[in-house]
Amino acid sequence: MRDIEAIIFDLDNTLYPKEAGLLNEVGNRIDEFICKKFNLDYPGAVSYRKKLFNEYGTTLKGLMIEEKVDPEEYLGFVHNLNAENFLKRNEELIKMLGGIKQKKIIFSNSPREHVLNVIRVLGIEDFFSGIYDIRLLDFNNKPGEDAYNKLVKHSRINPKESMMIDDYENNLKPAKEIGMTTVLVGNGDYHKFPYVDYYITKITEIGGILRE
Ligand SMILES: [Mg+2]
Repeated sequence: MRDIEAIIFDLDNTLYPKEAGLLNEVGNRIDEFICKKFNLDYPGAVSYRKKLFNEYGTTLKGLMIEEKVDPEEYLGFVHNLNAENFLKRNEELIKMLGGIKQKKIIFSNSPREHVLNVIRVLGIEDFFSGIYDIRLLDFNNKPGEDAYNKLVKHSRINPKESMMIDDYENNLKPAKEIGMTTVLVGNGDYHKFPYVDYYITKITEIGGILRE
């Protein structure tokens, strides 16, 4: 992997595992937000959230378009939680990132304050040269094309010399289309996708791929 100069990391369920439960808690708070806002019962809120997520890539985007929800009201509510209750300092990850010479960037559909909380708790806040969060993307989230265009334009990375890592396969498709090397992280319980180059079960396996 000598030709890789930049690594683009998703945050949630990528830099920490799904099993940590943090993103699940964000999901619970989204359900609560929808229940309160639209006077729906819990099952109604869950199915509405799923529909919006599948259609728009994030619930927020769907709520902004369909319901004219104020994004700051939404973000303030759903990310009002303590990352320390779910995550702790990850020495293995710190060591792995410290050994990677490539430029490292976070590309997330979450807001910056959530990204900062998470990377601080994990102990990896000093490794990243850029954070592309949902506000910086003007709420044009992954996997929408605009998000990738903005990332490439502002960070001045060459997609053909970049690797993107995400736990959601749909987010890797546009990355592959612009020439990136793509890595899907997760428990391996999925089909193979033509636009995914590497499959890993946890983020620290990236070090091994880069040494190939
Ligand atoms: Mg993710």
